Amino acid sequence: MTTPLSVYLPFNRDCLGGAFVPAKRGAKPPEATGHWLIVQEQRLIVRADGDRFRLPTGPVPAGFDGGLGEPFWFGTLAGTECWVASLARDLPVPGGFQAETLIPMQGTRLPDDLLSLGGMAMQALWWESTSGHCPRCGEPTERLEGEWGKRCPRCRYEHYPHLHPAVIVMVRDGSRCLLARKAGWAPGRYALVAGFVDNGESLEGAVAREVKEEVGVDVKDIRYVGSQNWPFPSQLMVGFVASYAGGEIKVDPDELEDARWFPGDALPGLPSRHSISRFIIDRYAAAG
Ligand SMILES: [Zn+2]
Repeated sequence: MTTPLSVYLPFNRDCLGGAFVPAKRGAKPPEATGHWLIVQEQRLIVRADGDRFRLPTGPVPAGFDGGLGEPFWFGTLAGTECWVASLARDLPVPGGFQAETLIPMQGTRLPDDLLSLGGMAMQALWWESTSGHCPRCGEPTERLEGEWGKRCPRCRYEHYPHLHPAVIVMVRDGSRCLLARKAGWAPGRYALVAGFVDNGESLEGAVAREVKEEVGVDVKDIRYVGSQNWPFPSQLMVGFVASYAGGEIKVDPDELEDARWFPGDALPGLPSRHSISRFIIDRYAAAG
């Protein structure tokens, strides 16, 4: 079955074309064997195979014995079980394997399917590392079998992986678009205005507020264009285009170093193709 997606971006599970099926209750395989998604900080452990990268496959890969966190069953990829485990940051990567960054801005060399799997694994490990204790009473939590949730055995509080919605928006005025940059980005690189959604706020409300706060202008005709799951550590980036409705650019210096209008046919340095920021710029900057 195909889905009429408007967005194809790494870190979205859709990239795997339905090949990945998340772990379900009661179906855990008896043995930890299959594909291994081993994450060391923000890097995925892979084998080089010519000019391609492959996941370690089989039983626990040789050389990692004792260095991995407790593996957990993650789901199946094209029918093969997938296991996730962390490798402590200070341990060397065993011979025959290499650690490839998952971070687009660091020039990741991983293909989109491995980026998407590695991103999900990293997000799952982040949840594991932040959900060990009840946020209400501090008691160690128990896993809800077959789900990603955790339950507190003392106060019965249940919580599930935390995804943080953030909006990202291209503001357009005729054939020009408004781009911004933060201090510390590569010289000359600009991207879209973005920010987290507040309590009680709609996505559209967040777009209008973030644009006003960060660059000082008003927007109208806010239109949804697509979304991207962004596992650094757990954002859901919701992308929009909006029309300029008035006001002069006034940059919030706590958030941005610069913001300005660029003609759609004369854009500055941009983020890598892996991000929804770039996707929106490529698709809508020249569209007027
Ligand atoms: Zn509790």
